[in-house]
Amino acid sequence: MKQQYDVIVIGGGHAGCEAAAAAARAGAKTLLATHRLDTIGEMSCNPAIGGLGKGHLVREIDALDGVMGRVIDQAGIQFRMLNRSKGPAVRGPRAQADRKLYRNEMQRLLGAYENLDIAALTIQDFLVRTVSRETSPAVVGVKAADGTEVGARAVVLTTGTFLNGVIHMGERRIPAGRATTRADDSVEPPALGLSERLYGLGLAMGRLKTGTPARLDGRTIDWDALESQPADARPVPFSFMNDAITVPQIACAITGTTSETHRIIEENLSKSAVYGGAIAGRGPRYCPSIEDKVVRFADRDAHQIFLEPEGLDDPTVYPNGISTSLPEEVQAAFLKTIPGLEAAAVFRYGYAIEYDYVDPRALDATLQVAVAPGLFLAGQINGTTGYEEAAAQGLIAGVNAARRAAAGGGGFAPFRFDRSEAYIGVLVDDLITHGVSEPYRMFTSRAEYRLTLRADNADQRLTPLGIEAGIVGADRSEVFHVKQKALNSARAWASGAGLTPNEAAKHGLKLNQDGRRRSVSDLLSLPNVGLEDLAKIWPEIDEMPESVAEQLAFDALYAGYLQRQEADIVAFKRDEALALPADLDYGAIKGLSNEVRQKLIAARPETIGQASRLEGVTPASMAIVLAWVKKVAPKRAS
Ligand code: FAD
Repeated sequence: MKQQYDVIVIGGGHAGCEAAAAAARAGAKTLLATHRLDTIGEMSCNPAIGGLGKGHLVREIDALDGVMGRVIDQAGIQFRMLNRSKGPAVRGPRAQADRKLYRNEMQRLLGAYENLDIAALTIQDFLVRTVSRETSPAVVGVKAADGTEVGARAVVLTTGTFLNGVIHMGERRIPAGRATTRADDSVEPPALGLSERLYGLGLAMGRLKTGTPARLDGRTIDWDALESQPADARPVPFSFMNDAITVPQIACAITGTTSETHRIIEENLSKSAVYGGAIAGRGPRYCPSIEDKVVRFADRDAHQIFLEPEGLDDPTVYPNGISTSLPEEVQAAFLKTIPGLEAAAVFRYGYAIEYDYVDPRALDATLQVAVAPGLFLAGQINGTTGYEEAAAQGLIAGVNAARRAAAGGGGFAPFRFDRSEAYIGVLVDDLITHGVSEPYRMFTSRAEYRLTLRADNADQRLTPLGIEAGIVGADRSEVFHVKQKALNSARAWASGAGLTPNEAAKHGLKLNQDGRRRSVSDLLSLPNVGLEDLAKIWPEIDEMPESVAEQLAFDALYAGYLQRQEADIVAFKRDEALALPADLDYGAIKGLSNEVRQKLIAARPETIGQASRLEGVTPASMAIVLAWVKKVAPKRAS
């Protein structure tokens, strides 16, 4: 470890790993400082990556040469494509991980990274210095609990659930960042000093909570009594660098709560940390605790539980769907009422955790804190939940921190995506524009341009931008260009080759008898025609690499919709290009209502587009702001 780095990343979770890797790829001398080296890449809760919306984020991270996709491809023990029966735009790749394999592979990959040092340090504070060209004091390094001081031009903070974290289990409160994965009662320590420092910076902060279920001994579960859920027959890798998955695949099982489970939970609600009033923070609406489900959906007499083995050579089973903060004895009682778990032994009981988060409206689109230049925040600390959301932010913060460092600690060209380019853009824009009132998770429904932003085409959309930004390595560049070449010639062929309805009929393909000749691309856009049908007519299709043929089919399927969406995207981009000066005096703009004025002052949007997405900001008020920026503001400045 040196005494001075370009970028220091605090935290070796999902945001931290991706931030450190991204900063290093961007050319910054980077230090990843985290509590313990053996917990780098640890999955604090469910051992799974991807899912609806989340899988899109992983593909985008991968397209930018990030690490998450490649790691899960080496650690996934049950790959499933969610929503397979629906259109490709809303399909969600998901893989359940072998927890140990995931951690080990992440540690191996980062250990081999150029430009990246890794150190076990507990960071307690930042080094702060007033730099003349910046109005607020800048963060210029970190101070560890053992007194070590390390300087940097930018610091990325990714402390997850550790910031002032408190574990709740019934009436027990334990200051902690999370429980360890060891089968004892040990916990990892919370980050207290950093929390105080962030409050000291005057940032708006709050409390959020999340929870996890008990971990069970799989050898004591009655698997034969349960419905089995196998992996996909042909697992689809997350990474565009991989053609196949070689990790052995396993089956999970499905069970559910019973009316007896619900009775026990209802009778003991007052002992739950959440319902007993001990926790003030809000939890993730889409990942509710079992006590939440029993109360909110009182008419349901069963809730599904997925029993997910945590590893190939690990007997631990994660019962997905019953996270809880009830006391141990209540958990033990209700587990016995669940089919298949009647005799299940418990390795460790579930708990809830409450932690500090920073209102992400304090950040700009590079995830830098406006009042603390040089400090970037990524992950759960920004009010999100989930490994994928954390990793996506880590990548953005890491690249921008590296850019700030390269610019000598001053202004730099932001690395960002807008909402029409990437789910990552949607995520960051939602956070910095609207803030959060509950843990934020990604869904396909959050992306208005989701027909364009598909998981299958993430490389097409983003790898060229990553190459331009200098964060894509030579191997991936090569793979991308080879695929691109094959895709271009496949597209050219598919728009040339074709047949008439009469010719189609000879091959058993029924088309509208309108006499019109249709190209292969036209044919693939028809809902009842697939690649397999056309491969019987044109053997060229079977000779194409599978990823190329599939891309051809998906692009054709969406071509009509995309043309229509194009006009919306052009209008959206026009508003995004209209930048609002950072020092714009909203108080001086005449004609704005007080409510709109206050919203604009609080949010300080970077563009007209971002301003118009603020709740309650009307198109009329945007017209007033725009007119002011064009005419009055420049005159005043001169
Ligand atoms: P983390 O993965 O928490 O990583 C933080 C890292 O920072 C760790 O490596 C830690 O050691 C390090 N660190 C912290 N403080 C310091 C310091 N002062 N000095 C040095 N290093 C430090 N997500 C879901 O999507 N659904 C769920 O249901 C869910 N339930 C959860 C339940 C529990 C009990 C917990 C703990 C988490 C849960 N999560 C859930 C959240 C999920 O774990 C996080 O979203 C994800 O891990 C966030 O990644 P991160 O990188 O922001 O932080």
